[in-house]
Amino acid sequence: MALSLLARNSPLASTTEQRQILARTDACRPFDERMGLVGLAPLHATGITVFQINVGKLCNQTCRHCHVDAGPDRSEIMTRETAELCIKALAQTDITTVDITGGAPELNPQFRWLVEQARALGRHVMDRCNLSVLLLPSQADLAEFLARHRVEVIASLPYYRSSQTDAQRGDGVFEKSMQALQLLNKLGYGVEGSGLTLNLVHNPVGAFLPPKQEAIEAQFRRELARHHGVVFNHLYTITNMPISRFLEFLIESGNYEGYMERLANAFNPAAAAGVMCRYTISIGWEGTLYDCDFNQMLDLPLSHGAPRHIRDFNPALLHARRIVTGNHCYGCTAGAGSSCGGSVT
Ligand code: SF4
Repeated sequence: MALSLLARNSPLASTTEQRQILARTDACRPFDERMGLVGLAPLHATGITVFQINVGKLCNQTCRHCHVDAGPDRSEIMTRETAELCIKALAQTDITTVDITGGAPELNPQFRWLVEQARALGRHVMDRCNLSVLLLPSQADLAEFLARHRVEVIASLPYYRSSQTDAQRGDGVFEKSMQALQLLNKLGYGVEGSGLTLNLVHNPVGAFLPPKQEAIEAQFRRELARHHGVVFNHLYTITNMPISRFLEFLIESGNYEGYMERLANAFNPAAAAGVMCRYTISIGWEGTLYDCDFNQMLDLPLSHGAPRHIRDFNPALLHARRIVTGNHCYGCTAGAGSSCGGSVT
């Protein structure tokens, strides 16, 4: 299995290095300047409807595009103490949705506790699932747990054919993903009328933008049903962010400047006005607060006077906070934007 950037001692394991590369690109005008042209600079939040908790970088896969640089060799995970601070903060609010991500979030010993606590507070819970985790012997009862707690599953599946999916996520991952989807379907996930939501996420397997959502969703629906008997609710499309391991791929393949130019040329003011940081608060495994999971992976915490740690959570100071932006944000404003509101593992 491949190793994370950190385990390979890659210079890109340094977020400072990544930020410098992104800041000095000649392929596009600075993001804030572009936002200024459409009256969106400085960018501000418009409230918080999504409480996204990233419980850490541990994962059972080492996908090529991963913006978290997650993998089996990463040991950073959220402790119970920090998880308790998250639930305490959530209880102060009427935020409707808790979005749990990683790594493979289910591998964190606090995952199930977080789900139970958030559900007890009456919140909708989403699990950003890599699918193969459901087949691990240690997670034999995970699918039933998710169904019992009515957790929405958002599952990454780059493509409906094995070659493209395995190229991005590792040998044999497509086959495991199909087994996991069949298991979820058996429990009612993705089946009309069950109330158990199963959404898939498609991201391009290369240095290009995702296709139109409706067309690719119809293809996935037809091919997965025909060849694997798999059903799902919706397919979201996301643009690969030019950070972490996807940034490494862009640089090594000579596509970095071209990709940044492609993103900037596809700048869409409507997508820019609706970026997820405007309605999300993102919490890191150590409790640090961010505008989104991408800023989290670039070590860009909240700034401009907003609280920086979950222990200082204050909804009044966060609802209209100024957002920290950079050239990576072109990944959110290209084309139709990323339609699943955030990262997927
Ligand atoms: S990368 Fe984060 S801060 Fe930048 S536009 Fe996207 S969601 Fe907002």
